[in-house]
Amino acid sequence: MSKVLVIGAGGVSSVCVHKMAMNPGIFSEIHLASRTRAKCDAIAASVKERTGQTVSTYEIDAEEVPALTRLIQEIGPKLVVNLALPYQDLPIMDACLAAGVDYLDTANYEPKDEAKFEYKWQWAYQDRFKQAGLMALLGSGFDPGVTSVFAMWLKKHKLKTIRQLDILDCNGGDHGQAFATNFNPEINIREVTAPARHWENGQFVETPAMAKKVAFDFEAVGPKNMYMMYHEELESLAKFLPELERGRFWMTFGDAYITHLTVLQNVGMTRIDPVLYQGKEIVPLQFLAAVLPKPETLGPTTKGKTNIGDIATGEALDGSGEKTFYIYNICDHEDAYAETGNQAISYTTGVPAMIGAAMMLTGAWKGEGVFNMEEMDPDPFMAMLNTQGLPWQVKELAGPVDF
Ligand code: NDP
Repeated sequence: MSKVLVIGAGGVSSVCVHKMAMNPGIFSEIHLASRTRAKCDAIAASVKERTGQTVSTYEIDAEEVPALTRLIQEIGPKLVVNLALPYQDLPIMDACLAAGVDYLDTANYEPKDEAKFEYKWQWAYQDRFKQAGLMALLGSGFDPGVTSVFAMWLKKHKLKTIRQLDILDCNGGDHGQAFATNFNPEINIREVTAPARHWENGQFVETPAMAKKVAFDFEAVGPKNMYMMYHEELESLAKFLPELERGRFWMTFGDAYITHLTVLQNVGMTRIDPVLYQGKEIVPLQFLAAVLPKPETLGPTTKGKTNIGDIATGEALDGSGEKTFYIYNICDHEDAYAETGNQAISYTTGVPAMIGAAMMLTGAWKGEGVFNMEEMDPDPFMAMLNTQGLPWQVKELAGPVDF
């Protein structure tokens, strides 16, 4: 029985708060604060209608550390779950330290003026969390999050070492819009337009954005083109799987998405540096995000499934030589919408955020300092994925990937 404070009121937060309310034995009191209180109130109203549970709401700018610290102290939660944007990670960690409360997030810190998502800023909080006797859990979404837990589960139960790891993120959903992103457009486009990086023989190798394309036949979705790109869990996986020879991340995009993105890039609309417009500085990507469909409005129209998982090759634990396993989850957009009022991209992130919070609040995962998902026992988290709406399956493949 624990009190939790969630910060941010977008699609991921909406799913997470609904799922917390569906587990009142773990989350006895839910508080929700964000920049726009009306969005918190809308989530609270939906939660009340669907589950009968009450969510208390507040308005807060999470970048105002003293005000946020006061709010945390007033509420007195056992855990702060950060589901705002990556820019707010460090101020929220500062406020947690000041108020003496544990911390969890789903995406690593990114400075606003540079599309560079790295763990170094948050890993630098290690000593402060340790000295305060507090725990910070980083990246408890799907990717990062479940993809790292999948890898560690394979390492615990199937493979002695992981030599090669490919993370495959397929969204086979169709929202019926010409161009829209499934989560925050600014964060999504910064991620997709950044150069690709993959881990190979002890270092990151950089290649141009979206330059490597492979066709892959995804179960429950069908054949899709996927593109190699950089994703933040590669950094933590390379650290916690020291034997890893090659680690790559792939995401599917339809041709229409690529065409729109290419045009937007070519005309400068994805720039993140300020430009002068009618005497006022604006950031083109932020303006673009303001005119694109809001991800939370895509729920009612999105049909199809996501299929996200890991393919890992390494030496089998049972001594039977080299083996390759594929571990994945399939999630249905319409089912996610029916359960929580949000599409599967928010669902596949919000459910693992709730599970990570449950791990910390029940003491299944504990520690003092800053932790990545790879450092925790995968078993209780994997068990909850099965019972909380993201069941997974694992199968052996004939051999390593041929791409
Ligand atoms: P949204 O843009 O839908 O929601 C973000 C929320 O944060 C909004 O309610 C916004 O407020 C609020 N917010 C922004 N700035 C502040 C601030 N200064 N103070 C308080 N609140 C603020 O994003 P999503 O729900 O799609 O994503 C949430 C997080 O999840 C992001 O960090 C994203 O990167 C991460 N994510 C992780 C994934 C994973 O698998 N690990 C996958 C997808 C997303 P307002 O309503 O006023 O704009």
